[in-house]
Parts: sequence; C-alpha cells; structure tokens
Amino acid sequence: MADLVIRNASLPDGRTGIDVLVDGGRIVAVEPSLAATARETLDAAGQLLSPPFVDAHFHLDSALTYGLPRVNDSGTLLEGIALWGELKPQLTQDTVVVRALAYCDWAIARGLLAIRSHVDVCDPRLLAVEALIDVRARVKPFLDLQLVAFPQDGVLRNKGALANLERALAMGVDVVGGIPHFERTMADGAASIRLLCELAAREGRMVDMHCDESDDPHSRHIETLALETERLGMAGRVTGSHLTSMHSVDNYYVSKLIPLMVEAGVNAIANPLINITLQGRHDTYPKRRGMTRVPELMAAGVTVAFGHDCVMDPWYALGSADMLDVASMGLHVAQMTSQAGMRACFDAVTANGARILGLDGYGIAPGNRADFVLLQARDPVEAIRLKATRLKVYRAGRLVASAPPAVATLHRDDGARSLDWRV
Ligand SMILES: [Zn+2]
Repeated sequence: MADLVIRNASLPDGRTGIDVLVDGGRIVAVEPSLAATARETLDAAGQLLSPPFVDAHFHLDSALTYGLPRVNDSGTLLEGIALWGELKPQLTQDTVVVRALAYCDWAIARGLLAIRSHVDVCDPRLLAVEALIDVRARVKPFLDLQLVAFPQDGVLRNKGALANLERALAMGVDVVGGIPHFERTMADGAASIRLLCELAAREGRMVDMHCDESDDPHSRHIETLALETERLGMAGRVTGSHLTSMHSVDNYYVSKLIPLMVEAGVNAIANPLINITLQGRHDTYPKRRGMTRVPELMAAGVTVAFGHDCVMDPWYALGSADMLDVASMGLHVAQMTSQAGMRACFDAVTANGARILGLDGYGIAPGNRADFVLLQARDPVEAIRLKATRLKVYRAGRLVASAPPAVATLHRDDGARSLDWRV
C-alpha cells in the first residue's frame, strides 16, 4: 500500500480531476480516478496542486535587516548598496544564520521550496558565506538553497573580491555571480564578465550575474554576457538577472539583442517588486517602470523567471516570501493580462525558475520527488488573484506546512454567512 493519495486535484497545465499517488517520497502515478489505495488520503476538492514555488533570485544574507543601521531614504539602488556597506561590518555569523533560518521558515510556509540566493563575497571574513553554507545544510530536508558568489562591490572595483570569490567557491558556494554595471567603466564591466565566465567555465559552474540593473539606455552588458555564453559553450547555464536597462534601450537595438540571447541560450530573471521600486528614481514624469521586456523575451523563447530579490532589507521594506505577490507584480508591470500571459507569470515563479536553477525531478509527474503545494484556488490565475492560501505543503511526500483556508464571515441582519471570493 502506498503512503499517500491526493484525490481530485487540478494541475497548473489545466488538467482537472487528477489523482496523485505517492510512495517512498516519490510520485508514483498522476492519473484521473486511480484505483490504488494509500495509508493516507487527501481530498483536494478540485483545488490547484502545484509544484513548489521557486525564487530564482534572492539575497538571504541581507533579508530581514530592515532599519539596520538605518532606512534607505532615497529608495535608490545606490543608497541601498551604501547602506549595506555600513551594515556589513556589524554582521555576525550568528545573526545572519538566525535571520536566514527565520526567512526559510516563511518560505516553507508559503510553499517556496527552492531559492537561489546571492551571497556577498566582498567582506574578506566571508562570514555570510559560512553562515549561508551552514543554513543550506540545515534546511536541506525542506528547501533547496543554491548559493551564488556575488561580488557586490565589483569584482574588479573591489580589491580582493576575486580572491574572496574563488575562496567562496572552494568553500562550497555553487554559482558564479557578478555585477558588471557597478564596475567603474563599461569596459571594466565587460572585462569582469569575461573574467567571471571563464572562471565558471573552468570550474564547471553556472553563472548568474546582476546585469544592467540601471535605467542607462547605453548599458550593454547582457550583450557581452550572451556572447561569452556562446563563446564558452555554456548555453542554458548562464543567467542575466534584472536586465532593467533593456526597458530603456532603443527598440532597434533590442531587435538585435533578443535574438542574440536566444542564440546563446542565456536565461533572464526579472525582479518585479524591486525593479518597479528602485528604477526610474531619476525620472520626473513620465516615470519608467524599469522592468526588463518580459513578454518579448518569453515570446522569443528565452527562459524567464521572476525573483523576489529582497525582503525587508536595505533595498526593500516589504515582502513575506510570497511568490504569488511577485507574480502579481510582474503581471501588472508587464501588462501580461491575457489568460496565457497570466499563466506565464505563474510559470515564472515555478517551472521556469526550476529550469534556471537546474533542479532535478521538479514537477508533478511520476518518478519526481513528491514536492507540491495545495492552494486554495482552482487554477494559476485564481491563485495569483487571491494570493491563495497554501493549505498544505509537501516535501518528499511529507507534510511540512499547513494553513487553514482563508474565510471571512459577513454579519448581516438576517444572519451570518461566509464569503467566497470565487465566482
Ligand atoms: Zn539581486
């Protein structure tokens, strides 16, 4: 007899009335009206059973530090970086671990079971690196944490950053990061991309760079990143994060750039909550939205995921590990309001992120690990609209978080009745 059977689930691909059989931590069958029995049965009642949410771009070392040592008054990226520089000397390994574990609890409760987190390697003590490697091991039964060695102050601009980055990789950090637009010149930015991509190719690592995170219409680093991806034969393993300047560059240039990205097989990550708040700060009106060209990239065939990027840190005061909040903002900013567009935004916080992280056995299909989330919604669009409650979160077939359904009661003169937001 199997461990668990979930009856009458809806899946993100549109299938309804599906049963999912789980045994030994793996999905055994996904079919309508399964005859099999199990020790435990869960009636999904037609609600959406989704693979876990994936956050393809996050900063776990700075999460939950909001107000330390002060808040970001201008709201700009650059004041955020300066503020983080003030906070770094005050960090201890213990406080980074405590905050990161607290955030991982939030994530698990929200059905967010895979996070790619950048970790700043410009502090020669590398205490955040040690802290997050510790956290990665401690949360492994519940959550896949992938770490990116991120030279926040610029691998060329900051003396010692390259050596620190190499040490971080040797300590067990997974992915090579970078920040070409923060190097001193466009030429230095391009040189940093070549240096870091060659390093990654030598070490067999993936690459994920903060790239063109500005409103500068002349920023061209994604072009260099795509070219290096192709030159080094790293298709599918290289990602440009943010790419906000693509919002501001000339349309003719983009008509040449996007095909180059497709040809090179480079991935893209937008961070809608952060891009809409940090970019356009130097504009009066009209004020640019500052998010990269998500629907155009998707239509061309680039794998595009959304990241949360920040939660309660020097760059962003809000957030609660809710990737439906991220999908909702992405949908609005990109005006992806068609049914296909809204479903694509759901994919950007689930399957597309999994592809970019290179997660093995992701998705609700036989043979995969039994990781999934039962949402209080019938389909991905309703899930985004309602920021649906995560009723049950499973990891390897084990219940790791649950929440009661969100229900309100209306008190009317003729008696009380419960409210249903679904039509
Ligand atoms: Zn970032």
